Amino acid sequence: MAGIIIDGKAIAEKIRAQIKKEVEELKEKGIIPGLVTILVGENPASVSYVTAKQKTAHELGFYSVQENLPENVSEDELIKLIFKYNEDPKIHGILVQLPLPRHINERRVLYAIDPRKDVDGFHPVNVGKLVIGEPCFIPCTPYGILYLLAETGVQVDGADVVVVGRSNIVGKPMAILLMQKRKPVGNATVTICHTGTRNLAEHTRRADILIVAVGVPKAITADMVKEGAVVIDVGVNRIGTTPDGKAKLCGDVDFDSVKEKAGYITPVPGGVGPMTITMLMKNTLESAKAWAGLPSEVA
Ligand code: NAP
Repeated sequence: MAGIIIDGKAIAEKIRAQIKKEVEELKEKGIIPGLVTILVGENPASVSYVTAKQKTAHELGFYSVQENLPENVSEDELIKLIFKYNEDPKIHGILVQLPLPRHINERRVLYAIDPRKDVDGFHPVNVGKLVIGEPCFIPCTPYGILYLLAETGVQVDGADVVVVGRSNIVGKPMAILLMQKRKPVGNATVTICHTGTRNLAEHTRRADILIVAVGVPKAITADMVKEGAVVIDVGVNRIGTTPDGKAKLCGDVDFDSVKEKAGYITPVPGGVGPMTITMLMKNTLESAKAWAGLPSEVA
């Protein structure tokens, strides 16, 4: 029997409605969550991500600013702009769209963001807090996946989770979150796989929950998946153009074959993607609450 498709769009809509409601309540107290997105250059994928983030921020009633810098902007100029927003009381979240051009040191730029406005959760202060289990900004993609897993109702506590990919923005934080003693989505036994893993399929076939973030189209095929497993496909691979000129996307999982074997599966698009943007908004909202001295999940 085919697996249940996890509708990330619908789940994201539900969370966004809750955020919007909270934004309206905050406005009555004179607080407006503020987000700045900083884009360097004109990489088409980055432009579309930033546009989507701005559109969502606007729809939810945030104060939002879009900064477009030329491809050849200097590292110092970019950092100067970040410092400006670090000091701006109307801004509670600063997002620098990655990747940055090669002449810019990404690490120096991300470290320049005030950790209290680091809504992407990439600053080492937030990474450190995540590891020791303190309130912090959780990176948006793994944060969204926690919600997707919760929606399935599948027991994560004690489950065998395999995360394929060890990037700082997806794989590592995902693995850390799921092994934390946090309920209801946590306390799992987590294995992390990468290009050094000897027999990938041997690991993935053991997974009750399989999370794939490798950036390789259809890297996971049905023979690598356990019957009834929850399969979360983070991959976004551009594999051509649709007749109406849009990017044709596919995930890291061979959806058509794996959906016949999985218990639950996320589609691409419409699975993890909508959650990532939503959790960015959630982090910005929580940041605004923390800056106002209200109870917040990030402080
Ligand atoms: P990344 O930084 O390129 O990391 C990829 C990871 O996968 C690395 O750890 C790499 O191992 C591992 N890997 C690559 N090929 C592998 C293979 N054949 N077998 C096992 N491991 C392999 O990528 P990322 O930033 O985590 O992103 C992964 C994918 O998710 C991309 O398609 C990206 O576009 C997508 N993504 C989507 C969202 C969303 O919101 N939907 C958000 C973020 C990323 P090594 O460390 O050994 O090199």
